[in-house]
Amino acid sequence: MNATPDRTNRPTRLPAAALGTPLTPSAVRVMLLGAGELGKEVVIALQRLGVETIAVDRYANAPGMQTAHRAHVVTMTDGPALRALIEKERPRLVVPEIEAIATEILQEIEDEGISEVIPTARATRLTMNRESIRRLASEELGLPTSPYAFAASLEEVRAAIDGGIGYPCLVKPTMSSSGKGQSVLRGPEDIARAWDYAIEGGRVNKNRVIVEGFVDFDYEITLLTVRALGASGEVETFFCEPVGHVQINGDYVESWQPQKMSEAALAKARSIARAITGNLGGRGIFGVELFVKGDRVWFSEVSPRPHDTGLVTLASQRLSEFELHARAILGLPVDVSLRVPGASAVIYGGVAAKGIVFEGVAEALAVPGTDLRLFGKPESFVKRRMGVVVSTGANVEEARELAKRAARRITPKAG
Ligand code: AMP
Repeated sequence: MNATPDRTNRPTRLPAAALGTPLTPSAVRVMLLGAGELGKEVVIALQRLGVETIAVDRYANAPGMQTAHRAHVVTMTDGPALRALIEKERPRLVVPEIEAIATEILQEIEDEGISEVIPTARATRLTMNRESIRRLASEELGLPTSPYAFAASLEEVRAAIDGGIGYPCLVKPTMSSSGKGQSVLRGPEDIARAWDYAIEGGRVNKNRVIVEGFVDFDYEITLLTVRALGASGEVETFFCEPVGHVQINGDYVESWQPQKMSEAALAKARSIARAITGNLGGRGIFGVELFVKGDRVWFSEVSPRPHDTGLVTLASQRLSEFELHARAILGLPVDVSLRVPGASAVIYGGVAAKGIVFEGVAEALAVPGTDLRLFGKPESFVKRRMGVVVSTGANVEEARELAKRAARRITPKAG
């Protein structure tokens, strides 16, 4: 295991070492802000430890709501509504699962000692905006990144590209994730379309984009990095084996673990992950996204929460990324060891309909070494992630082949 004490941060408030009984005065209550497929798995991991769980999302019957003790439908960018809910429920921990949250309220909640925000209110604020996390990584911590500039108009995009970023490059809204509003530009004729698309796809801060030079990487990884209490009694940093993945239009379609890397590249990846997560602080799992070419490694992004590509760990690790997150946030020891090579393959909705049916499940699960998660989302869209196949194999190649074969056998249909 790769752990060293981390004394670079302000002291982390440590939780009591005891757990309680849900729905009684001794309960340890945890509120998930965002209750999608990742939140659902965190809820299940917490439920297994007898934690009282409260799931919050902007729509009813979200996946995590279906497994939590209680659920609330709240627009999490609505600061006063979010604050009122946290004050009513008084959870010990507030655990963001999505980026679109009124993070200034999380800062108040942390400052006033109402709840502990995972990993920290500052981390949730910095990582929800591509500008603040990129400036922190590159300008403050000196981590290698793609060349970049920020722009607030079509003319500024053109100036940034002509001023040195060049082609090919990417334009992304500063407030977006999962490839939303993101496009690749191959020449000046692509600028207007990329700008319009970014403005449509951004969440708030509508007219600010990042222009990034295209990194011609060999492969990209998510380095799942856990900050948890270690044997030293202090927060230490633990690294899972690297997760490799394939993205199409900025959205993950397939992942596997372990991704083979040179020793030099792995050492650089860990050092980047340690630096960025150490600065963000707190406890919990982080998905550090990195590009790799030979022995060179670039920082791309970081999520201070379980990562979608890490769904593979449901099959490949002794403790999944969700169980690691649950343990880390509760102040419990973690074990990041790989159990067996594994893979995941996404099942998209393929249809726009409510209450869809999944055909071919038996045929899919007849593929050896596979398992299935159907998220239970009440409404399907063509490109909405509705489920995932996870698999194990003698090696990553075999696991990938099995996961894809099983996923292909499942056909979502309007109910
Ligand atoms: P992001 O939303 O920033 O995580 O980007 C989604 C995906 O787009 C990444 O996982 C990469 O596959 C690709 N991508 C993003 N930025 C770059 C870049 N600067 N160079 C090459 N590919 C990129």
